[in-house]
Amino acid sequence: MEMQRTYNFSAGPAAMPESVLAQAAQEMLSFRGSGMSLMEMSHRGKIFESVLEETIADIRALARIPEEYAILFLQGGATTQFSMVPMNLFKNGKADYLVTGAFSQKAAKEAARYLDVRVAASTKEDNFSHLPDLSGLTFRKDADYVHLCQNNTIFGTQFHHLPDTGNLPLVADLSSCIFSEPIDITRYGLVYAGAQKNLGPAGVTLVIIRKDLVREDLPETVPTMLRYDTHVKENSMHNTPPTFGIYLLGLTMKWLLQNGGLVSARERNQKKAALLYEALDRSQVFSGTARKDSRSLMNVTFVTKDEKTDAAFLALAEQKGLVGLKGHRSVGGMRASLYNAVTEEAVLALIAAMNEFEEGF
Ligand code: PMP
Repeated sequence: MEMQRTYNFSAGPAAMPESVLAQAAQEMLSFRGSGMSLMEMSHRGKIFESVLEETIADIRALARIPEEYAILFLQGGATTQFSMVPMNLFKNGKADYLVTGAFSQKAAKEAARYLDVRVAASTKEDNFSHLPDLSGLTFRKDADYVHLCQNNTIFGTQFHHLPDTGNLPLVADLSSCIFSEPIDITRYGLVYAGAQKNLGPAGVTLVIIRKDLVREDLPETVPTMLRYDTHVKENSMHNTPPTFGIYLLGLTMKWLLQNGGLVSARERNQKKAALLYEALDRSQVFSGTARKDSRSLMNVTFVTKDEKTDAAFLALAEQKGLVGLKGHRSVGGMRASLYNAVTEEAVLALIAAMNEFEEGF
């Protein structure tokens, strides 16, 4: 029986490359001739050790991460980073946050448990439909870091330029845009991302941290598992890491490398987003919710004139095998997530469904 795959626009966990899933299926019962699945074997054995090393090397090659940065695979999701960042980067006890969506708001709130948080800019008044003007931004000179969320998954906005933070380390939540385009890691002190959008399955959090920010003189009260120095010293192997997730993340990195790296990923992502935004801008029925200068390449948020019409469109889309399109409850309408593994074919199928809906309107 031929398997019918849907066009999956889910915000996360999200679509993964079909060839990655096929390879994982093929290797499921006996990984590299071992007679067992990768998920059944010791994380201290030679085979997993080589998977971990390959994955780190592939990330370094793909995103040009120099040795001054450590690459970590942690658990607890991006949400755990909301607390690890302030607990570990604490020096003067101050940090400046850009609040541009639900997740950066949560990050700022969590950080305020540990240090003095100043909101350097917020677009909450406009329901986060755009990003702040970077030119007028100022930061406290003695802040320990500046934090932002680069792509706001729920509101469909994305920073296409970074603020100038001078000597202050920039910390960025890249959960929903990591490796969707080339990255200049030297602009950041630390980046983090839950894997379940652009990297692989849920359960792994990728952290890339400049080594001079890894403190060893933290207060005794910081738990061992929440200290970056623990994970840097032990190469993410202090305890049992999420082995299967790291392996799938590694296959996804190989898939990106084989398909032209991050430059080609950006081309594909720009093309997909342009097709969909052009369709929205042409439409009499659908309209985008994010301000044009702040539009995300990864999460395209849009609405019709009312909730009933949104629901009718979502029903038609579902009939056509287009799933995961319902918008977040705080925005309503629709959201098409166009992560790396979402194909242009899927985007064209979505546009065709929108056109059909509009004709029958
Ligand atoms: N930050 C962003 C930008 C996100 O999109 C998400 C999840 N949707 C999170 C943080 C929270 O991630 P997690 O569920 O991995 O904790």
